[in-house]
Amino acid sequence: MGRKEGGAPSPVVAEIDFDRPGRQFGTLRVPSSRNDSGWGTIAVPIVQIKAGRGPTVLFTAGNHGDEYEGQIALSNLARKLDPRRVSGRVILLPAMHLPAVMNGTRLSPLDGRDFNRSFPGNPRGSFAEVLAHFVDSRLLPLCDFQMDLHSGGIGADLVPCAAAHALDDKAYMAKTLAAANAFNAPITLVLHEPNAGPTLLAAAERRGIPALSSELGGGARVNIDGVAITERGVRNVLQHYGVVAGKPAPDPVRGPSRVMTVPDLDCYVFAPQAGLFQPADPIGTVVKAGRTAGWLHFMDQPRRPPARLVYGTSGLLWCARHQARCQRGDPVAVIAKDL
Ligand code: CA
Repeated sequence: MGRKEGGAPSPVVAEIDFDRPGRQFGTLRVPSSRNDSGWGTIAVPIVQIKAGRGPTVLFTAGNHGDEYEGQIALSNLARKLDPRRVSGRVILLPAMHLPAVMNGTRLSPLDGRDFNRSFPGNPRGSFAEVLAHFVDSRLLPLCDFQMDLHSGGIGADLVPCAAAHALDDKAYMAKTLAAANAFNAPITLVLHEPNAGPTLLAAAERRGIPALSSELGGGARVNIDGVAITERGVRNVLQHYGVVAGKPAPDPVRGPSRVMTVPDLDCYVFAPQAGLFQPADPIGTVVKAGRTAGWLHFMDQPRRPPARLVYGTSGLLWCARHQARCQRGDPVAVIAKDL
C-alpha cells in the first residue's frame, strides 16, 4: 500500500516487490473513478530489473503521451536487459502517464492535465496528481539517478538533446553533467527553465537526485535517429553508474555531446498573432540575428502580405514549431547557444 510521507498516504498500490531480485513486470494500480465504475483503476506498467548490489536508477517515458522515442527504447530495454548483467536496480516506467500514452496526446483525456505540470502531486487530487504524488514520494526516494525521456510531441520538432537544469550547487551540477555526457545526445542543453517547479525533473532536484530530461525528436512521429540515440544513451548511463558493466563511449562519428543553453527570451521567436507559419530553415541550421525565421500567413485575408518574423539572436536553430497553425504567443523557433 501507499506509504505515508508527510501528508495523506498514496492510494496507489504498487503491484511489484521493489526488494525482489530478477525481472518483474508489475503495475501501479491508480484509482480512476468513472460513471460506470466507482472503484475503477488504471494499471500503469512498471518494470524492475534487479540483481546484486549497486545504485537504483529510474527511467521514465510517456510523461507526455505523444512523445515516442523514450517509450520505445524503455519497452525494448524492459524485455532485453538481462538481470544477470545488472548490479543494482533498474526501474522503468515506459508509459508513465498511461491515459495520455494510450490517447497519443500531451494532455490527459481523463483530467485534461499536463502530467509534467503536476508535481509534487496530491494524493487526493485528480488522476495525474495522484500518480505524480506516488512517483515523487515513493519512487524518487529509492533513486540514485532519474531520467525522464521527452520529445517534442505534436507541437515541436527538436535537435535531439539531453536536458539538465542549471544548478547552483557545483558538485551536484557536475554529477548531473557527467550523466548527460555519458548519455551522449548530440546536444546537452543546460536550461534556466521558466516554471520548472511542477516538472518531474524539478521534483528529483528537490530531493537532491541527479536527474535529466531530454528532447529526442518531435512532431508526434518516431524519429529514427532519436530511437537509436535514446537506446544507446540509456545503456551509456547504466554503464556510467556501474549498473551494467562496460564504459560509455561517445558516438564515434559525432564525438562528445555539445553543451549548449538557451540563455534568454531573445532565443525565442514568438508568433505575434495567430496564423500559418512557414519556416525559413530546418532545425539544426546555424542562424543569424536579424535574418528571416519565417513568414506568418493570414489565410482569411488574401490581400494582406505575410508577416516576416526574424531571429532575435544568432546560434543553432534547436527547436521549431511542428504544427503549421499557431496561436499568438506560440514559439515558432528556439535558438540554442554554446555554453
Ligand atoms: Ca515533453
